[in-house]
Amino acid sequence: MHVLVTGGAGYVGSVVSAHLLAAGHRVTVLDDLSTGHADAVAPGAALVPGSIADRAATDVAFGRSTIDAVVHCAAKSLVAESVRAPELYWSNNVGGSLALLEAMRKHGVGRIVFSSTAATYGEPESVPILESAPARPTNPYGSSKLAVDQMLASYANAYGFSAVSLRYFNVAGALIGDGLSLGERHATETHLIPIALQVAAGTRPALSVFGTAYPTPDGTCVRDYIHIIDLADAHLRALEWTARSEQAHLVCNLGSGSGNSVLEVVEAVRRVTGSPTPTVAHPNRSGDPAVLIASNGLAQEVLGWAPTRDLEQMVLDAWNFAQQPARSA
Ligand code: UDP
Repeated sequence: MHVLVTGGAGYVGSVVSAHLLAAGHRVTVLDDLSTGHADAVAPGAALVPGSIADRAATDVAFGRSTIDAVVHCAAKSLVAESVRAPELYWSNNVGGSLALLEAMRKHGVGRIVFSSTAATYGEPESVPILESAPARPTNPYGSSKLAVDQMLASYANAYGFSAVSLRYFNVAGALIGDGLSLGERHATETHLIPIALQVAAGTRPALSVFGTAYPTPDGTCVRDYIHIIDLADAHLRALEWTARSEQAHLVCNLGSGSGNSVLEVVEAVRRVTGSPTPTVAHPNRSGDPAVLIASNGLAQEVLGWAPTRDLEQMVLDAWNFAQQPARSA
């Protein structure tokens, strides 16, 4: 199939593109390169530089040849920024997605896999979190992603779209090999594993541990980490699901189904890197729930997907990626 990957110059979109190409599919990337990198576009994919909100750009992307389906990763994705400047999130994530869906209608494409997030759930009542749990996001980033999930449900109902919202938990790791090196290169890095690896490499003095008195076994937050390659594989399976489903919207969690605390992640970083990786206790980061763990039963049942790479592998791959020659952030 020929897949249009929006945000294909970013972390998730680049690895999804590479995975699709390796499986024998054709990929066109639509990316405005605002946070992505042209040199991260998977070799073999065609790049259309432009925004999902720009009709001229989507006309080029859809018009080049027949697109069978869309993987929609283009988005703003910084929680703190979304609190500071919510208009960016309503405009890019919600307005941009609406423009993309309208372009899909115009060009007769009705299959889409969307990068949704565990942030749509907010503070969970219980873990593991099922897809049927209430969606009560606690920041504009999560709200904007939930709005798009709801948009997809309405387009499935009204226009026969076949859509999957993949709710990612904590994505980590990199894709290295076969001449490829794709990983996290955020100008503003907020995620635990890349920051801890910067400390291990000596480019940051210490890791601030946000909260040490949570009601968890070691007092630090527990999250559900998933390898980027496992995540990419779920996108391919979700695309296959859209081919056999009509007028349907599936919401599906992507996580390992188990959790690791911040201190367990630091221990993994120490084991992999051999660096002492100093930490300093820091107050809780506002809006951080104590424990977020996915139920991944639906992904297993409906998509036939299961995670295959553990935390150690995520840290090792992210470390190997970070150790490579400097590239622009
Ligand atoms: N965290 C931390 N120090 C950091 C960055 C993150 O202690 O410098 C914690 C954060 O509070 C959360 C976990 O690590 O409990 C994962 O945070 P991240 O930002 O990677 O992902 P999130 O769970 O917010 O999507």
